[in-house]
Amino acid sequence: MAFDYDLFVIGGGSGGVRAARLTSILGKKVGLCEEYRMGGTCVIRGCVPKKLMVYASKYSQDFKDAIQYGWSNDESYRHDWALLQKKIEDEVSRLSKIYSNNLQKAGVELFSDRGVIIDENTIELKNSGRRITAKHILIATGGTPFVPDIPGAEYVMTSNEIFLLKEKPESVLIVGGGYIASEFACIFNGLGISTTQVYRGAQILRGFDQDMQDSVSEAMVNNGIDLKLNTDVSAIEKTDSGYCVTLNNGDVKTVDQVFYATGRKPVVQDIGLEAVGIKLDASDAIVVDEYSKTSIDNIYAVGDVTNRLNLTPVAIREAVALVDTLYNDKPTAMDHNDIATAIFTQPEIGTVGLSEADAVAKYEHVDVYKAAFRPMKHILAGKDEKMVMKLIVSAQDNIVRGCHILGEASGEMIQLAAIAIKMKATKADFDATCAVHPTASEELVTMKEPSKKYR
Ligand code: NDP
Repeated sequence: MAFDYDLFVIGGGSGGVRAARLTSILGKKVGLCEEYRMGGTCVIRGCVPKKLMVYASKYSQDFKDAIQYGWSNDESYRHDWALLQKKIEDEVSRLSKIYSNNLQKAGVELFSDRGVIIDENTIELKNSGRRITAKHILIATGGTPFVPDIPGAEYVMTSNEIFLLKEKPESVLIVGGGYIASEFACIFNGLGISTTQVYRGAQILRGFDQDMQDSVSEAMVNNGIDLKLNTDVSAIEKTDSGYCVTLNNGDVKTVDQVFYATGRKPVVQDIGLEAVGIKLDASDAIVVDEYSKTSIDNIYAVGDVTNRLNLTPVAIREAVALVDTLYNDKPTAMDHNDIATAIFTQPEIGTVGLSEADAVAKYEHVDVYKAAFRPMKHILAGKDEKMVMKLIVSAQDNIVRGCHILGEASGEMIQLAAIAIKMKATKADFDATCAVHPTASEELVTMKEPSKKYR
């Protein structure tokens, strides 16, 4: 049977775009539909605008530090929220256009529409009503913020709205202790907004190495964030002067905005999954095999909608592996091990591989190397904030199983450390590597004695 397309992609985010472009370049007929703006969460309301806000928010500390380095503070610095929002929107639009242009240059046919699966080979475009047939369908619809059902949930902002805020709030209460909540607590605080972060657990960034969790949380509090652990929100009411938030410990706080970052859920509603019986797991993510195939033979899914590891580079790699599998005669399963990630808190965290706790659970003999020190830059600036570096080594074979860094540029450092870890470098390999001086990262190759030995 002849189909309109070899591949039809639903969703124009990181995963969908990469799969569409690579497949089209191979000479296949490819279509892609996106109902909102091309680029998905990463470009439109995630990584890109967030990182620009991180840059913006760091200047307040840099200005303070600069005085300690001899600069005078003759001007009083003020932040222009509207200017920043406009510049971020311009950059997001520029990138979104580049995504569309690159797809079109590669020969992909684009549809600004919502795609709904009708049967195994048919997609209906919801607005136009047009029906399209395809040999393979790729679902790359991503994720969307989840807000728990509390009284007043209708008043909260999520990461979908945060980049559209026209006016700078004077105070924000953030709920959650994950990536987004912690990163935005630091962004708001750096931009001079009075920031409260409320997290239901004992320590933010659950699942990361405990030293990273504890040290970043301490630094965030020292930097002025009002972090309330073991606390949750009971109700939110709108008042004349903002939002009145009642906490489960009875405290009440009135703020200009309430921002929920309590996780994300896969976008699986109203795209026709039930029409063909695509299986979902308990968290409503599409179940796929190691080659990203759903429970239906010719339908695939990549990225956050599969809830494997919800990171842009992972979605891209899953898409590349899929194209190799389907069209390059090279069945490729995505390797989800040892994927490095950065949390752009202030200070930021770079991490790859096993945490100390996970390593101890997995290996009988573990050596932990840890350095905690004031980096040179902070000494003159008069800041107590410490940089922390850890190597987690399985002692039987001396292989470095985890690397965790807290401090300036750790997101950049961890990318390189991840290569060594992916190559199964041993602690002896780290020791044999000569230091780069004077840097903070030299500590990674100069930690001689384990700070802890598990036997
Ligand atoms: P996370 O899963 O990281 O964190 C969700 C947070 O919300 C957790 O602290 C969780 O608590 C809390 N939470 C969940 N449900 C409730 C509830 N009902 N009431 C109160 N608190 C709740 O999600 P994020 O939204 O922060 O980020 C989503 C994903 O996006 C991340 O996992 C990551 O994969 C990706 N991301 C990556 C970034 C990066 O690479 N720098 C940046 C931003 C996002 P608990 O810990 O107790 O479960």
